[in-house]
Amino acid sequence: MAILLSLGRFTLGRAVGVGFAKINGISLIRRTMHLQQNQAFVNGKWVGARSGETFEITNPANEQVIGTVPDMDVDDVNEAIGSAYDAFYDKGWHNSTAKERAALLKKWFHLLEINRQEIARIMTAESGKPIAESLGEISYGNSFVEWFAEEARRIYGEIVPTPQANRQMMLVKQPVGVAGLITPWNFPHAMITRKASAAIAAGCTVVIKPAEDTPLTALALTKLAEEAGFPKGVFNVITSSRKNAASIGELLCKSEKVAAISFTGSTEVGRLLYKQCSDGIKRIGLELGGNAPFIVFSSADLDKAVTGAMNSKFRNCGQTCISANRFLIQDEIHDEFIARLTEKIKALKIGDGSHDGVQIGPLINHSQVNKVTEFVEDAKQKGAHVVYGGHQLSQHGALFFEPTIITHLRDDMRLYKEEIFGPVVSVIRFKTEEEALQIANASQRGLAGYFYSNDLNQVFRVSKLLETGMIGINEGLISSAEAAFGGIKESGIGREGSKYGIDEYVYIKYLCYGSLE
Ligand code: ADP
Repeated sequence: MAILLSLGRFTLGRAVGVGFAKINGISLIRRTMHLQQNQAFVNGKWVGARSGETFEITNPANEQVIGTVPDMDVDDVNEAIGSAYDAFYDKGWHNSTAKERAALLKKWFHLLEINRQEIARIMTAESGKPIAESLGEISYGNSFVEWFAEEARRIYGEIVPTPQANRQMMLVKQPVGVAGLITPWNFPHAMITRKASAAIAAGCTVVIKPAEDTPLTALALTKLAEEAGFPKGVFNVITSSRKNAASIGELLCKSEKVAAISFTGSTEVGRLLYKQCSDGIKRIGLELGGNAPFIVFSSADLDKAVTGAMNSKFRNCGQTCISANRFLIQDEIHDEFIARLTEKIKALKIGDGSHDGVQIGPLINHSQVNKVTEFVEDAKQKGAHVVYGGHQLSQHGALFFEPTIITHLRDDMRLYKEEIFGPVVSVIRFKTEEEALQIANASQRGLAGYFYSNDLNQVFRVSKLLETGMIGINEGLISSAEAAFGGIKESGIGREGSKYGIDEYVYIKYLCYGSLE
């Protein structure tokens, strides 16, 4: 297949302004684009649902409608799967070279960098995330595209020393085919690029289903993927409301044309998709909920621990799967830590994320507000102490919840056992390292964990014994394209980012050349 690359030049339609991006020290100035779309993208075309149905997207800060997108169903998705399948097999994407794929990904990366302000505007409007955090997510999300553009050219096989002289043994890596990618609302950009750029780098084609709360960011990225010039059918995005999510998920899992599923979202939906993939023995990567412990030992630097706690807990209003969920604080420093943290929490600026300096925006939707409220009420009724906060903030809007700190948690409280996904610090006091580890590990979730200690021996012991896939040691922000992101226990299967992110989308083929003379 001839894949046309025009690397020297960006051909941008509907230019609206000037974008600045600094890439590897080089400043780029280009025309930027209107990126808000109201159609999905299948086989290189912007399309509506066959049924003609659409659904509305609202701004969580004020609940105003900011756009509509197609409410697609299984018929639409079947077509998208077909186009991804044809692009992979008949139209020859499986024969594309790593260099061609890397060039397309680099071009997409450059366009994403140049248009960061416009993407951030859309992201804040539909997710409620403060604009500074949207820009932060864009840097993070873009970094996956850059990283996998680089990794594409290093998907090496092996020549294996043979036990028989007349044989040559080779292991090669081949793309699996069509990948179905289902993503959540809390990182509307990065969860797509982390999956899609790995899949495309490996040589797969993709059908992406973004979350119903945040499809506009997904479509903005898609507009730039179109501009980057991915061949028709390589990059497909279908939008649907919640009512069609289950049937679409089932189709992606059961279609014989889909080779792999990658899902980020709730453990409940992940469990269902895992079951659905079992019929076709389909490959699946799952990045599910966590219940992250954040342990502060008495030897810790308290300033660093307080900063780490703020970063880990309040990013995206506590709505990240690696947010600290249970704060375990050692007896001797407990009161001092709570006092310092409470002062920081009181100073947080709350409001519409598009306003300057806002640090805490709204929660994403009513079901999140209800969940956070129920968890806090449950803890209060069972005897927890609310040190600060604990209420909805209706003066800001219907979806705002006050940054909160609660102590005296007990193991019969929902806050203790489940992931809250909200701006609530839940504190448990402990006496010994063994007790902290016992509490931290008494969870079926094992995504991220954090601990603060300046005792080297303790650092090594706890790093080994803490049952999570990722650990921040004296650090509250751990995400990076270079790192392997993923969980153990019920928090998931597989790894995203890092060199291992490619493994989700390739299989190893063993070639045995025999009877050689
Ligand atoms: P949350 O509860 O935080 O919205 P979910 O796991 O429900 O997390 O949603 C994450 C993604 O999974 C979204 O894109 C959503 O539309 C999708 N989803 C929800 N239910 C299903 C399902 N039964 N099958 C497939 N995808 C689903």
